[in-house]
Amino acid sequence: MSARRGVTILGSTGSIGCNTVELIEARPDLYRVEALVANSRVDILADQARRLKAKLAVVADEAAYPALKEALAGSGIEAAAGARSVVAAAELPADWVMAAIVGAAGLAPTLAAVRRGAVVGLANKECLVCAGQLMMAEVQKHKATLLPVDSEHSAIFQVFEFDQHDKIEKIILTASGGPFRTKSREFMADVTPEQAVAHPNWSMGAKISVDSASMFNKGLELIEAHHLFDMPEDKIDIVVHPQSVIHSLVAYVDGSVLAQLGSPDMRTPIAYALGWPNRIEAPAPKLDLAAIATLTFEQPDPVRFPSLRLARESLRAGGSAAAVMNAANEVAVAAFLGRKIGFLDIARVVEKTLERVPHEEINSIDDVLAKDAEARAFASGLIEDKA
Ligand code: NAD
Ligand code: MG
Repeated sequence: MSARRGVTILGSTGSIGCNTVELIEARPDLYRVEALVANSRVDILADQARRLKAKLAVVADEAAYPALKEALAGSGIEAAAGARSVVAAAELPADWVMAAIVGAAGLAPTLAAVRRGAVVGLANKECLVCAGQLMMAEVQKHKATLLPVDSEHSAIFQVFEFDQHDKIEKIILTASGGPFRTKSREFMADVTPEQAVAHPNWSMGAKISVDSASMFNKGLELIEAHHLFDMPEDKIDIVVHPQSVIHSLVAYVDGSVLAQLGSPDMRTPIAYALGWPNRIEAPAPKLDLAAIATLTFEQPDPVRFPSLRLARESLRAGGSAAAVMNAANEVAVAAFLGRKIGFLDIARVVEKTLERVPHEEINSIDDVLAKDAEARAFASGLIEDKA
């Protein structure tokens, strides 16, 4: 293949986005950039767009448009702003799209890329959590390719024998356990956002870092895995593995268990998706098993981490439950980061929202967006009442 792969990055200024930019910048022989999309970080976005010679740069936040236009003046790079422009960027004919916007905000643009049959690197797990069934149906219908970027799902994808689906006994997601793995609930009651985002193994955006600390991240990943690999809830196990070396495993009926290992560095799963079906180099530290010496495993604690139960219940309930759980969690995490509620209140807000927002069937993306809005309003009300 001689033509370079055209790439669009949704969420280019974030943690996943910047890692993706780094990998693309290293291989101008393989990739050219169509569009870059961010929320409001004009300085980083304009710099990336100039370096990568993107055709288009988009900010979701319309207030940031004048600054973007100014920062791109004379470059020949087109500037645009607003939610519609974000979706329009995803609709441009790039061969490969990185979906790395955080939260349900990534749903519409990711879906737009899927609907034109693109190869999509999916970091934005929230869009599968809130609209998994619809998303997977659209992937099939439009012959799009969804390549998981989440490290656990990339691991499973790499060892999952899709043509032996009925011979797969279960999949096992590994979890680092986050910064509060060994801490009591009394300790967690008083932790600050700074403590919650200080992840022992991974360097990530603020929202997913808090999700890792609460283990909602693993709950979201359980639902993500269910949709990506068509596995029922009771065939997805979670095991805590504090070293984050084994990124996940697949167990087969003959007793074989296949795993993918690597250093905890997102550039590896991003490179896997970027190069697919080929492999490309990534500058992640090489795995040195003798230096690591010991790999350990433990059961997750459902009492200290109620998020895992809430995610399993939501997945079993089906319909709107996972969208409600995700929306309430997004609102609660933002409130925790804004110091409006405590860390343990995150799961309380989610549980109460799941109890009180009526459960409904989901038949369309509009149904998802309506439930998402309803759950956000309810969760915000709970938080206001507390404040
Ligand atoms: P981040 O907060 O660092 O970056 C988020 C990106 O999304 C930024 O570029 C931001 O500008 C953009 N954005 C936010 N709201 C937007 C909106 N409304 N419209 C357009 N752009 C918007 O987050 P991250 O850590 O890079 O995570 C991104 C996604 O990848 C999340 O869904 C996360 O769960 C997932 N993920 C991240 C990691 C990781 O290591 N960081 C690992 C696995 C999965
Ligand atoms: Mg993950």
